[in-house]
Amino acid sequence: MSTSSLNRVQRFVTHDFTVRAAAVDATAVVREMQVLQGAKALPSLAIGRAMVGAMLMAAQQKQGHQVGVYIRCQGPLRAIYAEAHFEGQVRGYCPMTHYEPENYNNEYNLKAAIGEGSLTVARHQPFQKTPHQGTVNLVSGEIGEDIAHYLIQSHQIRSLVSVGVYLDAYGQVRSAGGVIIEVMPGVEDQIIDQIQKNADSHLVPVSQMLFDGAQSVDLVKPYFQGIPFMELEHNFPLTYTCPCTKDRVVRALETLGLAELEDMIRKNEKADVTCQVCGRPYLIEIEELTHLKNHLYKNSLN
Ligand SMILES: [Zn+2]
Repeated sequence: MSTSSLNRVQRFVTHDFTVRAAAVDATAVVREMQVLQGAKALPSLAIGRAMVGAMLMAAQQKQGHQVGVYIRCQGPLRAIYAEAHFEGQVRGYCPMTHYEPENYNNEYNLKAAIGEGSLTVARHQPFQKTPHQGTVNLVSGEIGEDIAHYLIQSHQIRSLVSVGVYLDAYGQVRSAGGVIIEVMPGVEDQIIDQIQKNADSHLVPVSQMLFDGAQSVDLVKPYFQGIPFMELEHNFPLTYTCPCTKDRVVRALETLGLAELEDMIRKNEKADVTCQVCGRPYLIEIEELTHLKNHLYKNSLN
């Protein structure tokens, strides 16, 4: 399933090429994820931030590259997954998509919903079987800082990462997006000091800025105040895209086991399966269930 939006990740670089940035208004794709999955407030916040982080990192790679962000955590959300392609396709998922705390206490406490855990970032390149993977412990549970922590630990890249999802009082996504500033080797101290100074004085959260009508470039400007920069070409519209297929869904039915499958076939029950990531419905016919059952039966004899 794929729908297009006009948004794209925009890339920027300082005139001396020592600091690069990417920024995105991801409201449309994060909202689409929430609608497709019927996700509650906190899972939407977590999935949305992970999606934005994956988009920002993927846009800094090369054509055909893909970045996966995987958080395993001890909090009630248990896990959060997002993946994004250089060319703008993105999707996200959390197994606890309907989780709600007993009481919100007038705030969306993402830290509490995530708790302790780890962040794995996987970079997939074309023609490479195994992705480059790095795992770090969560340092903040707010996802942005955790990604910055990963970049310094795994790639020795100093960065500022801000990802945000703005939810209304009903838990609906009103805006989402983020910005990443990455410092390359050879940068002058003076530029680092200026960016740090800018960052320290810049306190408006990105999701708030987007909600108030900011464009992607407006997310970058506060960090680059006093430093000349320009935009790099990266013309790929963001799309919420899930590569699920009927084949994969049928294979997932194997987990039901032989007895359950035989029962369905006996009762002449077709299987109605919905992909949890994109909401696409699949109807599995009796012949397909029979085929799967025979396959499972054969395997059980070995
Ligand atoms: Zn799907």
